[in-house]
Amino acid sequence: MTLDDEPMALAAEQLRTAGMRVTAPRMAMLMVVSESRGHLDAETLRERAQRITGRLSLQATYNVLRALTDSGLVRCTQFPGHPARYETERHDNHHHFVCRGCGAIRDVKCSVGAAPCMEPQLPEGYDTQEAAVTFWGMCPDCRAAPRT
Ligand SMILES: [Zn+2]
Ligand SMILES: [Zn+2]
Repeated sequence: MTLDDEPMALAAEQLRTAGMRVTAPRMAMLMVVSESRGHLDAETLRERAQRITGRLSLQATYNVLRALTDSGLVRCTQFPGHPARYETERHDNHHHFVCRGCGAIRDVKCSVGAAPCMEPQLPEGYDTQEAAVTFWGMCPDCRAAPRT
């Protein structure tokens, strides 16, 4: 591992900008999350990060992911019946489509406009910071090949 690797330097820069201490596991995790462009679970991310940093315990993996999520660099989404998924936080408030057949997750652009569900009817004192919508259904592959 050399620090002048470009993705590594970028990850270090992102950590510094977020006010975080730069550590090898954090850099590695940030790199694998941004390289994946998908929605990976902690176990998969751990496997990939280990190729960069060497052994990472599952606990260390969760600690790193939590720190990255808390700092706003990584977005964590929990879908019922699935392990938590992680992706780069792009602050675009996008939603997700989850296939009930194969579990594939696809990003769905935030529906723009004054949808009533985006302005929750809540008593005074609640500060809404995020709205997450999950669409459930079947992806084209699963529709083409019905489950037996
Ligand atoms: Zn599917
Ligand atoms: Zn997403």
